[in-house]
Amino acid sequence: MPRNSRAPLHVHLNLNVRGLNPSATLEINEMSNRLKREGREVFKLGLGQSPFPVPEQVVDALRRNAHQKDYLPVRGLPALREAVSAYNMRYNKIESSPDDILIGPGSKELIFILQLVYYGDLIIPTPSWVSYFPQARIIGRHTHWVPTSEVNDWRLTPEKLDLICRNDPDRPRVVILNYPANPTGSTYKLERLKELAEVARKYKLVLVSDEIYGQIHHNNQHVSIARFYPEGTIISSGLSKWCGAGGWRLGTFTFPSSLRWLHDAMAIVASETYTATSAPIQYAAVAAFSESPQIETYLVLTRKILKFLAKYLSTRLEELHVSFPAPLGAFYLFPNFENYRDRLKQKGIFTAEEMCDRLLQETGVAMLPGSDFGRQPEELTARIAYVDFDGSEALRALSGEYADTPLNGRFVSKYCPRIVKAFDRIGDWFGSL
Ligand code: PMP
Ligand code: GLU
Repeated sequence: MPRNSRAPLHVHLNLNVRGLNPSATLEINEMSNRLKREGREVFKLGLGQSPFPVPEQVVDALRRNAHQKDYLPVRGLPALREAVSAYNMRYNKIESSPDDILIGPGSKELIFILQLVYYGDLIIPTPSWVSYFPQARIIGRHTHWVPTSEVNDWRLTPEKLDLICRNDPDRPRVVILNYPANPTGSTYKLERLKELAEVARKYKLVLVSDEIYGQIHHNNQHVSIARFYPEGTIISSGLSKWCGAGGWRLGTFTFPSSLRWLHDAMAIVASETYTATSAPIQYAAVAAFSESPQIETYLVLTRKILKFLAKYLSTRLEELHVSFPAPLGAFYLFPNFENYRDRLKQKGIFTAEEMCDRLLQETGVAMLPGSDFGRQPEELTARIAYVDFDGSEALRALSGEYADTPLNGRFVSKYCPRIVKAFDRIGDWFGSL
């Protein structure tokens, strides 16, 4: 039969997939690249991708291991699982054995498989990273969005979590807590983590602590909630953010030994789906997770740049009179343009999505609406990923020109000019409404 005489394939789509769109972060990236190819000037503040290069010694390790061709154990290369377990102790003071580690092709895939094997509701605060909810929907799990408030920097409170669990205390639930947070850049104080851990213990929640941005806490003060709820916390992390290797696709889960049954079930699904994570990438990742002064320096410098940029851009947003949580980690800002609601209305703009679309059309600045992160469509929040700069050049400047000089506005203009220009355009656009 000729290919095009068949019924359209979408007729046969699984109902859980029907109607879904491609993930917002990847779609904005592809759309920005398309506009660029068409000759438009685009400022890529949409996709949350590290601006920094993969550290040289990790790239070298990948080069040296390009010949690795065998399938590796489903749960991961033993040397890598050892390195991750030692890294957990070094950076997080978390005791784990190599047997507690599961390596996957990105933490996104691991989070998906966890939701698949664990039969429970998904509990996430709004706003949350774009993919948790669609994953639950694809699998057919119920999602419970926990409301948060702006005065609380959009963070989950123990009271709200308790309120959700209270009326059916034995219901199986997975809570995903992500800090430093995508999309806000904010994080949790120690006291708050302890309180949340208490609620999690009370209801025996499976807690996925998504710490993919842990290493880029701007003050290097990230603390894992696994310290306070060790028996029920799975730490999710990987190479994508702190190591600048999103495209390498390597994620890690660290389980408590009490959840070995969940680890085992995930490994079965892994064995029937992706088999094992790419061998050369796993060998190279051993170098990334092993102790090294060069990687330590790389982290110190990348944090320093992100922290300064966050401070500089916060001042720019304050000049616009928008509210936003103080950025403490990662590379995101989450402003609320509520003050512009009346003026936006006069332009026929009523939702955050319309606001972002028009901003992109009229200024070339790409950012994502709060609605992609579970906020109400009419709330005028948006995520800015301040990553459109050459991280290699910026790092070189910190080892040369800025080795003994504190970072300043000149540094930002010289090494992050596209971000400065994007913020000029954002300022002009809102200013001219
Ligand atoms: N969690 C959060 C909060 C993220 O922003 C991302 C995006 N990289 C992921 C998980 C998934 O990361 P990866 O699959 O690249 O490990
Ligand atoms: N996590 C990144 C973001 O939020 C992009 C990668 C992804 O979503 O898979 O923009």
